[in-house]
Amino acid sequence: MPTVKLRRKDVPKGANLCEYCTAKCCGYFALPMDTPTDLDDFDHIRWYMMHGRVSVFVEDDVWYLMVHSVCQHLQEDHRCGVYEERPGICRKYTTDECEFDDDALYDKFFETPEQIWEYAESVCGPRKPLRKFSAARPAATDLKLPVLAGT
Ligand code: SF4
Ligand code: SF4
Repeated sequence: MPTVKLRRKDVPKGANLCEYCTAKCCGYFALPMDTPTDLDDFDHIRWYMMHGRVSVFVEDDVWYLMVHSVCQHLQEDHRCGVYEERPGICRKYTTDECEFDDDALYDKFFETPEQIWEYAESVCGPRKPLRKFSAARPAATDLKLPVLAGT
């Protein structure tokens, strides 16, 4: 049987929304980034995204790096384990516009390095092929080593 997603409007009036939530806001953090303008910028973002649970999204023309990592203080009951000493960023966050029932619809959203690179090449053009290096080692006689004083 399909599960019905709880919406804000379904929560009793005056109730604390967080009591009905799995603490979605404690499972990630997002940092604004400079807007990428060329392939080198996108290459950096691609590298960020090679590090596991990292996404990139764009909202109102601002690019964000999103790291999916649950706060070490989130308890199994979805409550904060350091509520009285929680950081200021948590204190300032309110339920007014939180992600309680949103579907994370961003202007742009990238989940993999391949996706960001496909986008990069579509807006910047394809990158020139990387220079190929020979795997063969040079012969010992070809090596020009510095001559040490006194030898
Ligand atoms: S602020 Fe919003 S997302 Fe965070 S725990 Fe409360 S209801 Fe959930
Ligand atoms: S400190 Fe508490 S409120 Fe802040 S992210 Fe961690 S669990 Fe959530």
